[in-house]
Amino acid sequence: MNSIKRNQRFPSSEIPGGLEAKETPQFVTFGFDDNKSLSELEWIYEFSSTRRNYDGSPITFSFYNSNIDKENIFIWKKLSNQGHEIGNHSFSHCPGHKTCWEKSPIEYSSLMDTEDWIEEISKTENIIKNSGLEKNKIFGFRTPFLCYTDDTLQAINKLGYEYDCSIEEGHEEDMDGSNYVWPYTLDSGSPGDRALFSYISGRKPLDNYPGLWELPVYLLVIPDDDLSELYQFRKGLQRKIGIVKPYVQENNWKITGFDYNLFYTDNGAPLLDSDEVLAVWKYNLDLRLYGNKVPLMIGAHSQEYYSSERRGIIERFVDHVLSIPQVQIKNQYQILEWIKSPTAVKPTKKNYKMVQNC
Ligand SMILES: [Zn+2]
Repeated sequence: MNSIKRNQRFPSSEIPGGLEAKETPQFVTFGFDDNKSLSELEWIYEFSSTRRNYDGSPITFSFYNSNIDKENIFIWKKLSNQGHEIGNHSFSHCPGHKTCWEKSPIEYSSLMDTEDWIEEISKTENIIKNSGLEKNKIFGFRTPFLCYTDDTLQAINKLGYEYDCSIEEGHEEDMDGSNYVWPYTLDSGSPGDRALFSYISGRKPLDNYPGLWELPVYLLVIPDDDLSELYQFRKGLQRKIGIVKPYVQENNWKITGFDYNLFYTDNGAPLLDSDEVLAVWKYNLDLRLYGNKVPLMIGAHSQEYYSSERRGIIERFVDHVLSIPQVQIKNQYQILEWIKSPTAVKPTKKNYKMVQNC
């Protein structure tokens, strides 16, 4: 292990530092994108100040911003001072390539070049900096619609970002939520990129970006009816999704790891209710706890938590998470720091029982 550079980790399901699962902390976080609406951000600020990890440290999330409303920039300093991570999500929120605009990708055609991306990213970075944050506190970038290209990664590399969090992982058939690859550097490309885009004719795999970290968007697995009592959802959850998103069934009931993909159909109609979304998150946490403890980093949009019912999903999930030994809610950059210098936690005396009712 000692010969491996600090900023080099090849994609692997093995736990960093050669640790065993029982001595590895289970990290959980939300990475909130867009973040245009102030009232939801204020709610997150208030809510997260009322909860603590078991070691007394604050629970922290990551926020990837775009289209920032200059009148609301004061909230970024507040959130940062509370320990949350402020990241970049471009300014105009444009998809970077044509395949995101066409349901059936025919031809790969890049629309934004590296200079375009640099401009997009710098614009948001400058606004965040003007909110009082120091530049060196912005570490991560997420591409709008996850429509990254080599030009995107070249831009964030040039701008000195430490990580990207736009690539989905878990599409391979033998990946099931308990054995996903841990975050890795792009020294040898990305398995998620190769799995997802291998079918697009003419689209070459991503280049290598030595030292640039990828904190993937992990697919969420939809539980089957046998688990409905355990996770307290009405039977038919997979069917409900499969009818409107048949590709999820074809992908062994794995779905893009964002809240939006659970809340809505591809046409924007309502899909899952609060209890169902909570069940999916709890199930995927258990897959981790019984597997290789890959961080559960849920993609989210703060503006989706506009009602007490929606907010209740996060509140109930956070309280559930905090009731489990070894689980810590940390922002994505803090999780990356642990991966670079992994340390063991005290093994728990007894095994965690799947799903506690809280
Ligand atoms: Zn977005």
